[in-house]
Amino acid sequence: MTKKISVVIPVCNEEKGIRNFLDKRLVPEIEKIKDYDFELVLVNDGSRDKTLEILQEYAESRKDVKVVSLVRNFGKEMALSAGLRYAEGDAVLTIDSDGQQPPERISDFIKAWEDGAEIATGVRDHYTKHGLIPKIGSKIFYKLLKLMGNKTTVPGSTDFRLMDRVVVNEFNELTEHNRITRGLVDWMGYEKKDIYYTYGERMAGSPSYNFRKLFNLAIDSFISMSTTPLVIFGYVGIFITIGSFLLGTFCIINQYILGDPLRLYWNGAVQMAIFITFLVGLVLISQSITALYISHIHTETQNRPLYIVSKKQSRNINATSVKPNKK
Ligand code: UDP
Ligand code: MG
Repeated sequence: MTKKISVVIPVCNEEKGIRNFLDKRLVPEIEKIKDYDFELVLVNDGSRDKTLEILQEYAESRKDVKVVSLVRNFGKEMALSAGLRYAEGDAVLTIDSDGQQPPERISDFIKAWEDGAEIATGVRDHYTKHGLIPKIGSKIFYKLLKLMGNKTTVPGSTDFRLMDRVVVNEFNELTEHNRITRGLVDWMGYEKKDIYYTYGERMAGSPSYNFRKLFNLAIDSFISMSTTPLVIFGYVGIFITIGSFLLGTFCIINQYILGDPLRLYWNGAVQMAIFITFLVGLVLISQSITALYISHIHTETQNRPLYIVSKKQSRNINATSVKPNKK
């Protein structure tokens, strides 16, 4: 049987370019790739312009096109999740609708998949972000992400990605509401291959991700993927507590036992300052402990599967016994 590949495309306010993107770039490209059936899953993410009409009209003329329309704008991450849920292919490719991720490279993703990768991730081959702030911002983002314990996300990796059916099924099981597709896919940890590509120019319209949205996305990534920010403050607290304790001890010994041979003349105000600093340290420590409890509650409520079994690598296991890995 011919394998089927779903192409999931989140679309939000793209009336100017979507038709061109589909007709001139995506469809010619997938028509070149023989041997497979394709379906397009167009997710309308609450567009306020003519996008939905264009998509509906497009679906009327083609059987292999699904339109999944969200009632309002839920953001690209949710649009992707919706698309993955409705995709039926043996593999699912996600691609932006603005032409910045070149459909011309789709065959490379399929090749990586056929060669055994369960996930093929598109990685920008160099920083083509425009403007100094986005550039520096994304550098800092990946540095911090690494610092916070996420070692698997390659800088520049994007949502131009192909996932095998087993990965998509697992992804569909995830229940958390605050989701960054990239982070979750990396968390699942299937066999990955990176595919470097050159990020193009937008074909039409303007990007909807402004600085504020990107900043929020970054914060979400940190908070949803790791508890390191909380732990850092705990360490700061430990440092302050130990430091002020030593200083306080020194102060007492110097002043009251040795009779201030160093002639520091530390008066009551200084002693008070040291004492208060010591208390601040304790407060930071206890706060970070509370935060750790909260983070445990947080992971519980995310209700992620406890583990994911690779059916490909396992042997002689009953397929039904693989599944119930959720609490
Ligand atoms: N998009 C979406 N919902 C949104 C914002 C964007 O579905 O709320 C889609 C958009 O139509 C495009 C893709 O997500 O296909 C990437 O968006 P954009 O080009 O604005 O972002 P960037 O290229 O800066 O990542
Ligand atoms: Mg774009």
